[in-house]
Amino acid sequence: MVYQLHLTSLVEIKRQNDIIGFKWGQQAPVAFHCRNLEVAEISEDLWNELGNSSSEIQSVTNSEALTSLNEWNNEINSEVQSGHLNFGIRTLTINVTQICNLMCTYCAAGGDGTYGAPEVKISVEKTLPQLKYFLDQAPSNQSFKIIFLGGEPLLYPEGIRALGNYVRSYLLTSAAAKNITPLFGIVTNGTLLNDENIELLKSLKCHVTVSLDGPPEINDVARPLKNGKGSTTLALQGIRKLFENKADLGSIVLHGVFNSDNMNQLATYEFYRQFPADKFEFTYSVMDQSDLPDKLGDQSSQNFSDQMHSLAEKAYSESGESGLRQIGFFDNIFSALDEQRRTENFCGAGKSFLVVDAKNKIFTCPWDVGQKEEQIGNNIFENPQEALKNYSKPLLELNNCQTCWARYLCGGGCMFIHKKATGSKNTKSPEFCQRMQSLLMTSILFYKKCRTQDERTYHEESKAH
Ligand code: SF4
Ligand code: SF4
Repeated sequence: MVYQLHLTSLVEIKRQNDIIGFKWGQQAPVAFHCRNLEVAEISEDLWNELGNSSSEIQSVTNSEALTSLNEWNNEINSEVQSGHLNFGIRTLTINVTQICNLMCTYCAAGGDGTYGAPEVKISVEKTLPQLKYFLDQAPSNQSFKIIFLGGEPLLYPEGIRALGNYVRSYLLTSAAAKNITPLFGIVTNGTLLNDENIELLKSLKCHVTVSLDGPPEINDVARPLKNGKGSTTLALQGIRKLFENKADLGSIVLHGVFNSDNMNQLATYEFYRQFPADKFEFTYSVMDQSDLPDKLGDQSSQNFSDQMHSLAEKAYSESGESGLRQIGFFDNIFSALDEQRRTENFCGAGKSFLVVDAKNKIFTCPWDVGQKEEQIGNNIFENPQEALKNYSKPLLELNNCQTCWARYLCGGGCMFIHKKATGSKNTKSPEFCQRMQSLLMTSILFYKKCRTQDERTYHEESKAH
C-alpha cells in the first residue's frame, strides 16, 4: 500500500503490517518497526518487496528479502518499554487567574482569558484543601508537578506564592512523608517578568514557558495588548531578564502557536535562536482545524507539517542532532526511539493530571475549562477512580488506534482536538492524524540521518586507530 501523506513529492511511503518504509530523494530507504520502535536503513531489494506481499516473487533475491521482512515484522523485542500509565494524579494545572493583559487572536478563552465571565482569581483558601487532598493521594517516591496557568498567571503572584509555599511546606511534614519531590512550572506571556516576579519564580525553581509567536512583526499582530498595541517589546524585556537569571530557574522554553494567519516557523526559529533556551516548542493552533465548517479547505495544517520538515532540515544542517533536539517535538521522539519507549497516551488527562480552574472546579484538560459539561463532579474527592472511569483505558484503545503505524509514538492524539473536529473526544480528527503522521515521518527520517552519521563517525574513528 502506498500512503498519501504530505511531502509525497519528496517521500515515497509503503507499508507492510507493522513495518513502514520511507524513501526520501536519493537517500537509502528507511524502515520503521511500529511495535518495536526500531529504525533501520533497508536495501533496495527489501524496499521493492515492501507492501508487495501478495504479488508474485520475481527472483531469489526478492524471495530472501520477503522472508527477512516477514521475520522482522514478527519479531517481539523484549527490550521495548511499555507505555502503560498507572492511575495517580502527579500533575495539577492551576488557573490562578483567568484574567489576562493580552488579547491574542487565537485565544480560546473568550479572547481575554475570561471565557466571558467576570474577572476571577482563584481562592487560595479553597485551593489549599484541594492541594492537600491530591498530595495525600499522590504516589510515593515520585515528583508532583504544579503548573501555574492563566489567563496570565503573573497577574496574581500572591496566589502563586501562597500555593507554592504551601506545597513545599506540606511535603516536608510527617503527614506527607512519602518522598514526593515538588516541581513547579508556569506558562506566561512574558510581559510581567519584572524583578519581583522573577524572584518569585526563582524561589520555586520554576520551569518557565514563555509564549512568543515570533519576531515583533508576527508576535505584535497575534498577541496584542488590551489597548491594541504590540506586546513584544514588553515580552522581550522580560525574557532577557529571565535569561539573566537562568541559573536559578528550572528550564526555560520558548513556545509559539501557528495558524493560518501565522505559518512562519522558520522566521520564529531564527528569532528564538538569539536566546539560550532549553527548548523551542512549535504548536499548531487547536483553533485552526480545516475539518471545522468555517475552515473547510484550509491548507494550514499541511503547511505546518511541511514547515516543520523544513525546520528540521535547517536545524540539522546548521547544528546536527543538538539543533534538532532543541526543538521539543523532535527531542521527545528521539528519546522515545533511543529508549524504545512506547506511548499509549498522548497526554495524561484524567489519568496523571487534572486542572483546577479559577473557580476551583476540576477538569481533565486545560482547554475544557469553561465548559460545564466537562467538569468533573465532586466525587473526585471521594472516589477519584470512579469519577475518572471514562479516562481509565489507554487512549490508544479508547480512540481505536490499533492499526495506525504511528500509534506508539503518538499515543492516540489530543482529545480536545478530536472533540472539536468530530464531537467526541475518542473519535479521531483525520486532520490531526495526517499532521501527526507527517511530523513523525520527519522525525524518523532525521533520527536515522543522525544515527547513520554516528555510525559513520564511529567507523571512521575505528579505522583511524
Ligand atoms: S490519533 Fe491518529 S495518528 Fe495518533 S495513533 Fe491514533 S490514528 Fe494514529
Ligand atoms: S486533551 Fe489535548 S489539550 Fe487537553 S490536556 Fe490532553 S493534549 Fe492537552
